[in-house]
Amino acid sequence: MKININQIPTGGLTLEEDESASALDLETETIKFPQALRIKARLFKITNIVSADVILSTALRTICSRCLNEIEIDFQKSLKLNYQVSKSEQVVDLNPEIREEIIVDYPLKPLCSQNCKGLCPKCGKNLNEGDCYCAST
Ligand SMILES: [Zn+2]
Ligand SMILES: [Zn+2]
Repeated sequence: MKININQIPTGGLTLEEDESASALDLETETIKFPQALRIKARLFKITNIVSADVILSTALRTICSRCLNEIEIDFQKSLKLNYQVSKSEQVVDLNPEIREEIIVDYPLKPLCSQNCKGLCPKCGKNLNEGDCYCAST
């Protein structure tokens, strides 16, 4: 999200925008974005400071670290950003900070559910779908 500083009135400005995950370079080997990133921002300009209250919402598609099933996780985050701007600056780009705030919240060990039983280490069966016979042999 790029903000044209001169378009922020005294009372502030509310913007809503979708950014694609690829535009922000968010996808990794294991984290995908099935939908765009929704950015809501409330912007204020006070002398040479531009401040933004930002609410991010989207969904992540990743893989359960125990059973390897594909899962989708809702992602919501609100953040406050401040930028010092000089007179010659016309545009503030929020995307680098937004990108960073999303990436630090990537789940390290995502789970399809807290009770996920995972895979049998012997036969590889997904134990959420039922027991295998390895334990009894
Ligand atoms: Zn699982
Ligand atoms: Zn088994």
